[in-house]
Amino acid sequence: NRLNRLNFSGGPGVLPESVLAETQAAITCVPEVGLSILGISHRSDWFAAVVDEAERNIRHLLQLPDSHAVLFLQGGATLQFTMIPMLLLPHRHQTAEYLHTGYWSGKSIAEARLLGDVRVIWDGESDGFRRLPAPPELSCSTDAAYFHYVSNETVEGIQFHAIPGLDEIIRVCDMSSDFLSRPFDPNRFDLIYAHAQKNIGPAGVTVVIIRRDLLAHAPDGLPSLLDYRTHLKARSIYNTPPVFAIYVVLLVTRWLLHEIGGLEKMDAINREKAERLYSAIDDSSGFYAGWSMPEHRSLMNVTFNLPSAELEREFLRQASGAGFSGLTGHRSLGGIRASIYNAMTPAAVDLLSQFMREFASLRHA
Ligand code: PMP
Repeated sequence: NRLNRLNFSGGPGVLPESVLAETQAAITCVPEVGLSILGISHRSDWFAAVVDEAERNIRHLLQLPDSHAVLFLQGGATLQFTMIPMLLLPHRHQTAEYLHTGYWSGKSIAEARLLGDVRVIWDGESDGFRRLPAPPELSCSTDAAYFHYVSNETVEGIQFHAIPGLDEIIRVCDMSSDFLSRPFDPNRFDLIYAHAQKNIGPAGVTVVIIRRDLLAHAPDGLPSLLDYRTHLKARSIYNTPPVFAIYVVLLVTRWLLHEIGGLEKMDAINREKAERLYSAIDDSSGFYAGWSMPEHRSLMNVTFNLPSAELEREFLRQASGAGFSGLTGHRSLGGIRASIYNAMTPAAVDLLSQFMREFASLRHA
């Protein structure tokens, strides 16, 4: 049934069913307003309250201290690749340190280089981005302008399970594909960014969490829209924001708080889901080959190969016929990628793991 396919794609990802039902109703009419969510003024008191509650919920979920501001911006995670060095790398004598751990960190490094000096202090390319650095492999400088890394490389399916870098250096993290999927200590971060379309909503909005005192040293002359201070001052409503996307983010944060019960619980569910797929890989006697080294496996994106390109095509064809959508690996890597973001249910993951086991047992004669 094409209407009930399961969305295992790398993004935009799956959203909770209860959120979809509420969204559907809101497209016709938001009861408190009497208008469709697609046509409500971003200057209304109602929308200001939506932004406030979404921020409050994120603060609550992360136990975020008041030292950090929460912003809802546009331009995707990609614009953050530029806004961050514009803020933090304005002087020629400074260097920013980046980890090159996969496709997306590679993109962020290329953008930062357009604006200043970048030193890549660890590069996983020669290992095919199958692993992440251990702390002793990192030679972080104590005078870097900032340190940037990607907590979960969406394409390769590798995820940090401990926070790298030095606490005394400004730590910047792209959490686009694992934000709000697990708890972490926000005090150890100075700037976090995550677009919505994996775990927390539809495409169109990017959440930025920034330590307020970073803004005290912002360079002069930044274009208004690319200056975090503009958005902080305007409470994320400087120009017309993506009203719909922010509203859905609010609904997802309510779901995380009230239906799931917080990030510890979400993390436990996500671990359980990932375990089911990785065990289907590990139990296949080598028929499925996981891309990442086991200790760096992502709980969000499970990447693997089959013995041949032909078998991969057959796997994808049959999986698609069985109602599993979006399993084709990223165009840069090939293979298979099953993305199991927060809203992917354990029951749906079980169906995929069962499908994988059956496919392997029929083909692996
Ligand atoms: N960072 C990561 C980790 C991503 O997964 C992606 C996209 N999938 C991006 C950045 C780019 O995000 P956007 O398309 O919102 O610019």
